[in-house]
Amino acid sequence: MDPFGLKLIFITFLVFVPLERLFALRHEQKILRRSWVNDLIFLLFNRFLIKLGLLGVIAASTFAAAQIVPASFQAEVGGLPYWVQIPLVILLSDLGFYWTHRLFHAVPWLWRFHAVHHSSEELDWMVAFRIHPVDQIITKGVSLVPVATLGFSEWVIAIYVLFYQWQTVFIHANVRIGFGPLRFLFASPEFHHWHHSSEREARDRNFAAQLSFLDALFGTMHMPKGQMPAAYGLDQPMPQHYVRQLLYPFMGDRIFRSKPDAPPRAETIRVPDWAPK
Ligand SMILES: [Zn+2]
Ligand SMILES: [Zn+2]
Repeated sequence: MDPFGLKLIFITFLVFVPLERLFALRHEQKILRRSWVNDLIFLLFNRFLIKLGLLGVIAASTFAAAQIVPASFQAEVGGLPYWVQIPLVILLSDLGFYWTHRLFHAVPWLWRFHAVHHSSEELDWMVAFRIHPVDQIITKGVSLVPVATLGFSEWVIAIYVLFYQWQTVFIHANVRIGFGPLRFLFASPEFHHWHHSSEREARDRNFAAQLSFLDALFGTMHMPKGQMPAAYGLDQPMPQHYVRQLLYPFMGDRIFRSKPDAPPRAETIRVPDWAPK
C-alpha cells in the first residue's frame, strides 16, 4: 500500500537533489528554499484531485472515441511499429498541450489558474508539481485525448507517460544541463526556465512541454544564446499557501481582503538574492 505514491516521490528526490547539487544553475539556491513546504503539499495531495479529473476525461474520451473512431482505424494505429507510434503520440499530445497552455496564458480567467504554476520565484524540480488541479486536468486532459482514443498500444502509452513525467520534472530543475543543438527539438531546462522568467521579453514564450520546435513553428520561441533568466515569478499578488492558492482563481484579489496578514504586493515582486544587481 502506497496511497501517496511515496516510493516514486522518494526516487524522484534521490535523482534530482544530487543532480541539482552536481550541476546547479544557481548554487546559492537552497534545497529547502522558500515555499518548499507548500510545494511538498502540492506533491503529496494534488495528485489525488488531478488523477480523479484525468480519469474522468480519459473515460469520457474513450467512450466518445468508441462511437466516433472506427475500430479498424484504432487497430491500424496500434499495429504501427513502435518507432512510429512513440514520436507520433508525443507530437499529438504536445500539440494539444501547446495550444491549451497558450490559451491559459491568453485568457484572463484561465490565467488565474495557471498563475499558480508561475508563482515560484525560484525554480527546482519540486516546482513541476505546483499546478492548480483545474489547470492540470484541462491542459493534460486535452493533450491525452489523442493518446487515449486513437488506438496506440499500451506499451507506447506507458513509454510516453514515463518520458513525459521525467521530462516535466527535469525541465524545472535547478540545473545547467544543456541539450546542445537538440534544444531546438526537445524542451530542456534552459527552454522552460525562460517560460518562467519574469522578464518582459520572455513573457508568453516557450509553451511546449516536450517538443521545443513547436514554439519555433508557431513563433513563440525565446532562448537567447548563452543567457539564462535573471528572475522568475509573477508581477501580480499570489497567496502563499496551498488551500488559498486553490481558491485564488475563483476569488481573484478578493482573497487578499479575506486575510489581513496576506503578503504585501511588494513581496510578490521581490527580486531574488541571486539576481544580478
Ligand atoms: Zn505557462
Ligand atoms: Zn513550468
